[in-house]
Amino acid sequence: MTGTIAARHGPHDAPSGEAQATSVYVHVPWCVRRCPYCDFATRAVEPAAIAHERYADAILRELERRAPALEGRRLVSVFFGGGTPSLWNPQALGRVLRGIVGAFGARLGELEVSVECNPGSFEDDRAAQLVEVGVTRLSIGVQSLDEATLAFLGRAHDARQALRSVRSASECGAAVSADLIIGVATLSAMETAAQVAPLVEAGARHVSAYVLTIEPGTRFGALHRAGRLPIRTEDDVVETYWRLADACAAVGLEHYEVSNHAAPGQRCVHNLHYWRAGDYVGLGAAAVGCLLETPGRARRWRNEPDPDRYMALVEAGRLPEADEERLGPAELVREGLMLGLRTDEGADMRALARRAGVEPSHGRAQAIARRIERGDLVRDEQRLRVPRSRWLVLDSIVVDLF
Ligand code: SF4
Repeated sequence: MTGTIAARHGPHDAPSGEAQATSVYVHVPWCVRRCPYCDFATRAVEPAAIAHERYADAILRELERRAPALEGRRLVSVFFGGGTPSLWNPQALGRVLRGIVGAFGARLGELEVSVECNPGSFEDDRAAQLVEVGVTRLSIGVQSLDEATLAFLGRAHDARQALRSVRSASECGAAVSADLIIGVATLSAMETAAQVAPLVEAGARHVSAYVLTIEPGTRFGALHRAGRLPIRTEDDVVETYWRLADACAAVGLEHYEVSNHAAPGQRCVHNLHYWRAGDYVGLGAAAVGCLLETPGRARRWRNEPDPDRYMALVEAGRLPEADEERLGPAELVREGLMLGLRTDEGADMRALARRAGVEPSHGRAQAIARRIERGDLVRDEQRLRVPRSRWLVLDSIVVDLF
């Protein structure tokens, strides 16, 4: 899974001296089985073998170790991603959530708290239990409402379970997002787009539609190399992308990011913060965090990916980091452009200058002017954005600005 309302102000919008807005991502590294297309840091486990409380203890200890870096920061959102966070005991998840909120001196009820869920691990009372511990948003890995497509994708649920999960999540009062995988050989563009209406009718107010990508280290990767994976042509994928976007627009969902559509007021705060190049803390096995130290200097780290080694490191009193990266002004500008240009609001150049400590247009003014002339970029006062009609060629536009 992947892990994303009326846009709140991002960290860049804060006047200097105001607490730096920060999100927290918690990685939950288990799934009931591995999907053949997935290369995320996750491990297939028997649900009975999950170390619910031990993992929660480890995350809370990691949080304690990171407390000095959190001082003076304001929590904007918490996101439990994976893996399959809905496999985790909601009480253990709630204990971690209260620890995070307490560490920032924030209050539950004032924050977006998202949990990624799979319909196969989402029995009827799971949504209610998650809402009960403070979760406000459930992001459900529907992937498809077509049985043949679910079988092709190796999913552990059927279409009926998927719709029931969306309905039960919505009935519990959570904001509901549904993930779809598009560009799959088993479904035409029209059939793919036809899945949106039933999801919205069941209560989804946000749809994330990701084009199937073939990752080298996966079963699909091996089948593709052997020429045995049916795939759609690029033209088909493009047609599917726009037909799905039209279907979302027809039911009132705004296309606010390359792969994301939301009803008014339902944009994902956590992901918006990320696309605005905001700071985030990663907790748990394989989690990534990135915090600005001073303008123009940030540190990114990645935790030990193996859950057993992660817990052993934390229990031995050590920081569970596998590697770290230092980001300077050039990297911060590139990253800020790459993320910001994915959204309909674009990259806030003034905010980016504050974050990177340099003028972001410096050295790329000609490339920007050229792309504006071609219609690939639009400048709205301090913002630079890519028009929605060019989102499918975003990568080539961004590369030109590097
Ligand atoms: S459920 Fe999600 S995270 Fe787990 S293997 Fe499947 S795609 Fe990957």
